[in-house]
Amino acid sequence: MKTVTIRRTNEQIPVGKIICIGRNYIEHAKEMQADIPDKPVIFLKPPSAIIYDGEDIIIPKISNEMHHEVELVVVIGKGGKNILASDADSHILGYAVGLDMTLRDVQAEAKKKGLPWTVAKGFDTSAPISEVLLKDEIPEPHNLNLVCRVNGTVRQQSNTDKMIFSVHKLIEYISSIITLERGDLIYTGTPEGVSQVNNGDTIEAELVGYIKITNNVKSETK
Ligand code: MG
Repeated sequence: MKTVTIRRTNEQIPVGKIICIGRNYIEHAKEMQADIPDKPVIFLKPPSAIIYDGEDIIIPKISNEMHHEVELVVVIGKGGKNILASDADSHILGYAVGLDMTLRDVQAEAKKKGLPWTVAKGFDTSAPISEVLLKDEIPEPHNLNLVCRVNGTVRQQSNTDKMIFSVHKLIEYISSIITLERGDLIYTGTPEGVSQVNNGDTIEAELVGYIKITNNVKSETK
């Protein structure tokens, strides 16, 4: 079973569901030539997709186009159903930085055929995540600078104040459909600047001033 580690206490929390949000930044929706959603777009990754700082991201044989997506990740501390946005903060344990690694060619094919995104988004190593910062270490989750560098060059740089749906609105929406439980993760969507990575690249994903992960990209042996 995969876990996440609380940085301050070293406590290990078993990971439940991984709920991901698509198109939560206007500029990313535009670069994907997608409509701006009027309610959150949600999809799931399996917990087996998780890897940690320093581990390799593996491009599966089925793809020739893997993209990075840097995201703020919310870690649920207290479960619930039909949680109101006004009460959502009490359900949050903390925050992490993560990468929603995406097989863009596989996803494009799935979109064209109206098929699910599970293969494009849920493959092994598709969910790198940092240690977890407790909520009291992140006073303003909607004013965090997110940066993604590839081989030292900045590819994505934005602020969580540009989210279309706030963390609290996301919790309200998700929990109206899917019961949230302790250890569930919410990948809250990526800003613009997503781009391809290749065998041998090094990706750094950072919540500026708080925490960073570094992962190398490798191709699965064909
Ligand atoms: Mg994403």
